[in-house]
Amino acid sequence: MKHRACLLKEFSKPLVIEEVQTPTLKPYEVLIKVLAAGICHSDLHLWLGDFVPQGLPKKLPIVLSHEVVGEVVDVGEGVPSSFRRGMKVLVYPWQYVEEDQLTIRGFTQLARKRLRLGIDVDGGLQEYLVSNYKFLVGVEGFEDIPALAPLGCAALTTYRAVKKAGAFVGPDDYVVLVGLGGLGSYAAQWIKLLMPYTRLVGVDVRDEAIEFVSKVVNVDVAINASREDPTKVLNELTGGLGVKAVVDLVGSPEIVSKYVNIVDTLGIYVLVGHMGRVEVPIPRPRIIRNEITITGSYTGSLSDQYEVVSLARKGLLKYREVVTKRYKFEEVNEAFNTLKEGKVVGRQVVLIT
Ligand SMILES: [Zn+2]
Repeated sequence: MKHRACLLKEFSKPLVIEEVQTPTLKPYEVLIKVLAAGICHSDLHLWLGDFVPQGLPKKLPIVLSHEVVGEVVDVGEGVPSSFRRGMKVLVYPWQYVEEDQLTIRGFTQLARKRLRLGIDVDGGLQEYLVSNYKFLVGVEGFEDIPALAPLGCAALTTYRAVKKAGAFVGPDDYVVLVGLGGLGSYAAQWIKLLMPYTRLVGVDVRDEAIEFVSKVVNVDVAINASREDPTKVLNELTGGLGVKAVVDLVGSPEIVSKYVNIVDTLGIYVLVGHMGRVEVPIPRPRIIRNEITITGSYTGSLSDQYEVVSLARKGLLKYREVVTKRYKFEEVNEAFNTLKEGKVVGRQVVLIT
């Protein structure tokens, strides 16, 4: 069997849709007809070749997208009978080759031998995809299946990052969210849902992004960093003490080195975004003397993935509102170009079949 796949063959060049061989099922594998695939900022970086210094993508050509929803069409030997044909699934994209001490302890996203969709192996921008059944999360009963695709990365990544900040904040504390783009649209919701007693400070340089997120949730303090200096505003708001938590979805060296200085004693700085230069200077004395925690947060575990789907199912995550643009499979290059031009608010998905 053959199917159509969207291939990244050369960095920055248009992606090409070609026929490829559909893999045959091995034991414990499921064949999925892809319904929709989300386009993430890291897909943009992969397309442009920005991650080549880090050895990514692992192969060329590669099929991008790690945000995938689909329908079960065939099951291999050993797959539990609960996986039936026609069942709708979200594919957990942070897959791995084998269990190790980290995956067994629940840190699946940190597996020693990673097999991440659209990064290490082919991802969702194709008509069919094969996955081990253990990475499939059932999404039956949702009204809008394509809009669930970003739950595999954008919603998941921000869920984990916000949970990390949660242990460091109390009532009336300010939680600063840097970057109100696609990830920010979910992060702002998680902050309001998981720590409703705090005050959300949303920072971006685009008015349209601030407006979009403000429509989805109540942003207590919105700052356009192209007009105001957020550190000055936050110092004034906190009487010079600083804030208890920063969730940084941008991570440029300029932002990190500046915002780390507005974290109060015993506060936390959660690094999620990794824009621009790799290394970032940090104010060591301040971090030591005030016992400030700086932590990375990488995607989310399989257990986080189940929690995200469950919260969306309960109506506690506005997942449909965040998906602002849907493209046909043939329009995939348009999706990448729009993202490159910085024109996207919310999140984009490509409808595959
Ligand atoms: Zn992503």
